[in-house]
Amino acid sequence: MTTRPISEKAKTMPRNAIREIMELAGGRKDIIHLEVGEPDFSTPDHIVEAAYQALKEGWTKYVPGAGIPALREQIARRASGRAGRAVEADRVVVTVGAVGALYTAILMLCDAGDEVLIPDPCWPNYASIPHIVGATPVRYSQLASRRFLPDLDEVEAKVTAKTKAIMINTPGNPTGVVFPGETMRGLVDVARRHDLYLISDEVYEDFVYEGEHVSASSFGLDEQVFVVSGVSKSYAMTGWRLGYLICPPGMSDLATALQDPTVASAAAATQKAAEAALASSQDCVAEAAAIFRRRRDVLLQVLGNTGLMLAEPDGAFYALVGIGDRHPDSTTFAKALIAERKVATVPGLTFGPSCDKAVRVAFTIDDEVLRQGLEILRDYVEGG
Ligand code: PLP
Repeated sequence: MTTRPISEKAKTMPRNAIREIMELAGGRKDIIHLEVGEPDFSTPDHIVEAAYQALKEGWTKYVPGAGIPALREQIARRASGRAGRAVEADRVVVTVGAVGALYTAILMLCDAGDEVLIPDPCWPNYASIPHIVGATPVRYSQLASRRFLPDLDEVEAKVTAKTKAIMINTPGNPTGVVFPGETMRGLVDVARRHDLYLISDEVYEDFVYEGEHVSASSFGLDEQVFVVSGVSKSYAMTGWRLGYLICPPGMSDLATALQDPTVASAAAATQKAAEAALASSQDCVAEAAAIFRRRRDVLLQVLGNTGLMLAEPDGAFYALVGIGDRHPDSTTFAKALIAERKVATVPGLTFGPSCDKAVRVAFTIDDEVLRQGLEILRDYVEGG
């Protein structure tokens, strides 16, 4: 007897090639790791200490599905600063990572057959999350020739009767793009004109080197805008798994209910750690931003005049680098670079069909090692 088949959605889910590269390169000390999308430093001590204290004090039990009230208050305070006006704590849902916030938002909005507009290129989960709820991700382009900014007319032209939401990301992974206010306003206006939801992923909001971060929440369209962020990147807390979703008024109860059968809530001690991160001095965030700015300077020094970088990154900690003509595609290139030169990068194809002639580098490692890795990459592309 043959066992019945697993679900079609599971079978056909687009797989994340970042993990594929990590399997090849992960943990290898003989490799320069330009593939890793997380800060290389540890969570600041005062945050770890707060979690430790919380565990000792008994924060080891179930907590409310929307999050511990004190943390929701802290998040609302942070979000109010970004929005430029009060964001009420009852609109905040604490999630398992920012990815949990993206998933909950899509779960709330989409039925099978609905469409979600996502960027090309984008973080691969933007394609897989709609897929697993049966919705169809539809790409709009963010071309290198436009410094990776979306073309608002194109976005609007992709809207159909089935479109439920537009997903956007600024500062952007993998491009490093930072949307200026007018782009953000334009996207909010498209959502407004077509009665769509805008899901704005702002998880890299603290890492901006040129221009400034403008939140989608600052244009007064609260009823249609979801803001996604978290503590993973800003406080070097990727392993704690703590993010949040700012919902339109009246929608957070449903978002909370949808977490119940999936994760119930984020972990209690992790929430206490995040509360400490947000409530205490923000010097650690400024220090992290200064480190990434310095490393971005290294990137600009090594690749700045080569024409290889598709655009200078204004934010986040990534850049896309062209692979030249010797390799047919980004996956072959990335595998060859590991095998021949011991440098790991992420194939551009992972992020969308437009990027198969590029790889993503992350400036999340020690400055000198970063310089070496980028020089090897540059020489390899240039045929050396
Ligand atoms: N959004 C973007 C654009 C990301 O690049 C990432 C992680 O790399 C996430 C969300 C996920 O963040 P978290 O680790 O908090 O789930």
